[in-house]
Amino acid sequence: MSNINIIEVKNLVKKYGSYTAVDHISFSVKKGEVFGILGPNGAGKSTTLEMMETLRPIDDGTVIMDGIDVAKHPRKIQKIIGVQLQSASFLEKLTLEDQLKLFAGINGTEVDVDKLLEEFDLTAKRKDYAENLSGGQRQRFSIATALVHKPKVLFLDEPTTGLDPQARRNLWDLIQRIKKQGITVILTTHYMDEAELLCDRVAMMDKGKILTINTPKGLIKELLGRGFKKEQVVEQADLEDVFIDLTGKGLRED
Ligand code: ADP
Repeated sequence: MSNINIIEVKNLVKKYGSYTAVDHISFSVKKGEVFGILGPNGAGKSTTLEMMETLRPIDDGTVIMDGIDVAKHPRKIQKIIGVQLQSASFLEKLTLEDQLKLFAGINGTEVDVDKLLEEFDLTAKRKDYAENLSGGQRQRFSIATALVHKPKVLFLDEPTTGLDPQARRNLWDLIQRIKKQGITVILTTHYMDEAELLCDRVAMMDKGKILTINTPKGLIKELLGRGFKKEQVVEQADLEDVFIDLTGKGLRED
């Protein structure tokens, strides 16, 4: 991770009628960082992401990504970002291979289908239709489609929701490999273990505002510094450890 900010968000605002869904938020993201946005449902996370992704008009404030103003140059931004599509956006009657080629064509770039499918553990599925993929495979494929044009910034909105523990861990490995390639990742999740493991820093959001931004360890330290105490937990394992121990780490969907 470098010290250069690839994203600068300043006083970003989104209003739906008289309701302010995103209320003057500011933050920056470093190049190569995995940056998490956490918060309860309705906090404004998706709206924030969608404004950054050019999918929703910005009412006030600015988002600058890689030196480009999102509101002024949406087309240029679309070339440097990858957005994980929700599964419903797949073309169900097209093979994975053909969809990747189609996405590359739309983006005016070449894609090494073999390499991409291999990287995402989907080689065996290349001639299959998206409609026949399991939950974990769909999530992996949706991230693969977002990386076809080699973006600098990847947006993942709750990428592991609904996955079984094996598929979730597999996706964590994948996100860590994407980070190693130097791609900056913006991620939302409701799983705190996931945020702690994957994110270099997280922003805690509620009611349209950012409450705090820090590393996961830094946030915990801040909390303890405020005198927080939890009843001591003596178990060295949890139910998920039991699940993984008994059923193994291997993916089950193939
Ligand atoms: P989160 O992703 O944190 O769950 P959202 O960004 O989806 O939050 O939503 C923030 C708030 O804005 C919520 O109260 C939601 O109901 C409201 N909202 C989202 N989209 C719209 C819309 N298109 N029209 C009106 N209100 C919306």
